[in-house]
Amino acid sequence: MRLIADLHLHSRYSRATSGDMTPEAIWRWAQLKGISIAGTGDFTHPKWFRELHDKLAPMGNGLYRLKKEYFSDNVPASCLADVSFMLTAEISCIYSKQGRTRKIHCLVFVPDFAGAAKFSKELARIGNLNSDGRPILGLDAKELLRIMLDVVPGAMLVPAHAWTPHFSVFGAASGFDSLEECFEELTPNIHAIETGLSSDPAMNWRLSALDKITLISNSDAHSPAKMGREANVFDTDPSYNAILDAIRTRKGFAGTIEFFPEEGKYHYDGHRDCGVSLTPQETRKHDYLCPMCGKKVTVGVMHRVDLLADRNADSRPDGAAPYKSIIPLPELISETIGVGVNSKAVDNMYQSLLGRLGNEFSILLDRPLEEIEAAGSARLREAIARVRSGKVNIAPGFDGEFGKVRIFEEVGRQQVKGQTLMF
Ligand SMILES: [Zn+2]
Ligand SMILES: [Zn+2]
Repeated sequence: MRLIADLHLHSRYSRATSGDMTPEAIWRWAQLKGISIAGTGDFTHPKWFRELHDKLAPMGNGLYRLKKEYFSDNVPASCLADVSFMLTAEISCIYSKQGRTRKIHCLVFVPDFAGAAKFSKELARIGNLNSDGRPILGLDAKELLRIMLDVVPGAMLVPAHAWTPHFSVFGAASGFDSLEECFEELTPNIHAIETGLSSDPAMNWRLSALDKITLISNSDAHSPAKMGREANVFDTDPSYNAILDAIRTRKGFAGTIEFFPEEGKYHYDGHRDCGVSLTPQETRKHDYLCPMCGKKVTVGVMHRVDLLADRNADSRPDGAAPYKSIIPLPELISETIGVGVNSKAVDNMYQSLLGRLGNEFSILLDRPLEEIEAAGSARLREAIARVRSGKVNIAPGFDGEFGKVRIFEEVGRQQVKGQTLMF
């Protein structure tokens, strides 16, 4: 059974997150996007935990469903589907190790409310869980893992967006050079990393140290419409244990749906205030200083992968799961009709396409091009055909600035060839 799972998103109790991130909205948007299993995010937050407890019912398989009384009637018939929730949270660990400040975000998955409550109770001794849905704790990431292993049988910890410069296990600014440096003797309990928007599996395949690690992808959505911009594809039963087994063993892990990594905010190096974007080679040439103002540049994900890699860019280790690169449908519509992505016109066409063709993933990945043309336009058909074959133009993101994607015109310095491997 093909299941698409997005296991990292945030509730309205997280900083800089839309007030719309409610259980009802996650339920609705999961169907619009084509997500079968959505993370709850933020289960450590007391108010969100209570709300989840009130609105979700256990399915008996380690997953939860929204209670019927919270269903709304604003999902088109073409998209109606079952949605399961997995209890997930993200913790920000800020601590000092080996003489340097470390800032590392970790995802935690738990099988039930009892486990979530026990875990949160332990963390509440260490820091304040009320102030942010993604709590900031002065706790070593390894100790976080130890606590989780001690108090919640069946839980899993996954380093989040593992390459972003400022808050990740391999980040240039405050991370480590290996999982072992971070998790030491507990490293065998790390089965996966989240690759994040600015890196894709092919970049991670350059590190033989990650050959045994499953590369998962999630949206890290802060608003409903961003859900599913990255996701995982499973071929398993819909249950907590089956999903976690697939992550541990890669049996039943069918691959990931990815951003083009160039579109991510930290793909290249650079200095945003000066509008300076640099390849890793250019950064080295400029001695890691901005050629405009002389300040240190922010070292991005590609550079960091380059430093830690022990293989060439075109290597694919045995057993590596496939992936597909996509561009969110609203961005494609926006380009085909020439108006802003947040405009009413884009939303109208988005809703109309979903009503006629089904959820967004089915449109981006599966629907025959003739049907897309009939429901949309010849230009949209061409846009989706180009995304499916990886022929898009992207000016890579840098220093917190998203990359710019264009289907029909040249932009920036390179044409990107995306991956089109089949699931
Ligand atoms: Zn994070
Ligand atoms: Zn500068």
